[in-house]
Amino acid sequence: MQNIFSDTYQETPFWHHNVTMPKTNQSELPKQSDICIVGAGFTGLTVALHLLEAGKSVVIFDAMKLGQSASGKNGGMIGPSLHKLGLSGLINTHGEKKALGVLQEGINAIQYFPTFLKEQNIDCELSLNGRFNGVHNQKQLEQVERKCEEFTKLDGFKYTMVAPENVQDEIGSSHYHGGVIYNLDGSIQPYKLIAALVQKIVDLGGEIYEQTPVTEIVKTSSGHQITTSRGSIKAGQTVIATNGYSKDFAPKSLTYFSKRILPLTSAMIATQELPSKTIKKLFPKNRIHGGNHRLVQYYRPSPDGKRILFGARGDDLWDRDQYNAKNLHILMCQIFPDMQQTKIDFAWHGKVAYTFDHGPHIGQQDSLFYAMGFCGSGVTRTIYLAKKLSMQILGEENFQTEFHSLNFQTKPFYNGKPWFMPFIIKWHSFMDKMNR
Ligand SMILES: Cc1cc2nc3c(=O)[nH]c(=O)nc-3n(C[C@H](O)[C@H](O)[C@H](O)COP(=O)(O)OP(=O)(O)OC[C@H]3O[C@@H](n4cnc5c(N)ncnc54)[C@H](O)[C@@H]3O)c2cc1C
Repeated sequence: MQNIFSDTYQETPFWHHNVTMPKTNQSELPKQSDICIVGAGFTGLTVALHLLEAGKSVVIFDAMKLGQSASGKNGGMIGPSLHKLGLSGLINTHGEKKALGVLQEGINAIQYFPTFLKEQNIDCELSLNGRFNGVHNQKQLEQVERKCEEFTKLDGFKYTMVAPENVQDEIGSSHYHGGVIYNLDGSIQPYKLIAALVQKIVDLGGEIYEQTPVTEIVKTSSGHQITTSRGSIKAGQTVIATNGYSKDFAPKSLTYFSKRILPLTSAMIATQELPSKTIKKLFPKNRIHGGNHRLVQYYRPSPDGKRILFGARGDDLWDRDQYNAKNLHILMCQIFPDMQQTKIDFAWHGKVAYTFDHGPHIGQQDSLFYAMGFCGSGVTRTIYLAKKLSMQILGEENFQTEFHSLNFQTKPFYNGKPWFMPFIIKWHSFMDKMNR
């Protein structure tokens, strides 16, 4: 059997290679803080940054090392996060006005993202070259075109259809019949964004405690008493930014959230370095890429233009990088058959947070502020909703988003472990094969 792993194969995100995470405070916990944040991914760190800028004292806890959550491991692909239900599905549930409002928030998020990076002077290799999504036959091409036409009701949405004869201009593959370019989309190096946020928080006097799980949150007359593996602290207000990891470290105090989040594995590989002319041939426009699969697949060139980064939703609940990597290599070779002999240098996985209504949620539950449930599309929405949540905490106007008023659903007997997902994933995988 062919060995697809290089001699230097590592089970660590490619992004962490050659980027240094700033040092954080490892001194004793302060006795109290205006705000305590649970979770140091994009959401928690960005809320912290805005609150520090407003003059609040902020302490952030993360159970893991910085960058080990979804935020430091994702595909770095950005776009308007068009809702899984599409416009017509959302209209059926919410009516047209709300449906358009929910979708518009995705555009607001992608439009805000470069502004945020510019305001904060953050370099995380942002490139806005668009995304090519391929389809397999004429019927699918027409379906995609109809959906895109519907989305033109949104302010700022842009797309370009790609006819069969033009596919080779977009991708060095004969896998697709045609497709669509989502012109607003682009990419970043996510670990660089985490590192930049951490540096800013440290510079502003924020305290970040990594590898420090919050194990209990108790409401008090003045806010909360927070218990962590390092000791306790009093907080005036508390933010929960735990997303796909909500069940893992504080089972009792975060039950409300874990009962509403479906944590799913998403896995990625980075190939060995390839000649730049090979990457140029496969990705002639340096865009990000995906298909119309039920089991999401996403791929792109690395920012240095030397590797293919390929990701997909894991097909079971097991977190096994070698197993995932073999599957991802097969999927990559279906699109790029010439890559059969290309070896894998890096494989990794993380948890995304699905919700029962396929969208994120934000607001205040009891006394806890929260934003979570980014459904695998969180790079821009975390940054946007973190801004809105910090405005809400600071009592500013215009913090409301369309997500604030959505019911954060759970289901009877659901306890935070999606035991039924392997069956659903197998079904989607079967349907993907039928659709090709
Ligand atoms: C492999 C992969 C690829 C992805 N690709 C993309 C992509 O290309 N584009 C895109 O838009 N999105 C993508 N996503 C999704 C995106 O990364 C997430 O939506 C986003 O990073 C969520 O950020 P967050 O800060 O809300 O949560 P996270 O980054 O998951 O952070 C949550 C943090 O909470 C901490 N935590 C939980 N409980 C506790 C506790 N009790 N005490 C202390 N800390 C706690 C966890 O340790 C974790 O660090 C991908 C995700 C994965 C895993």
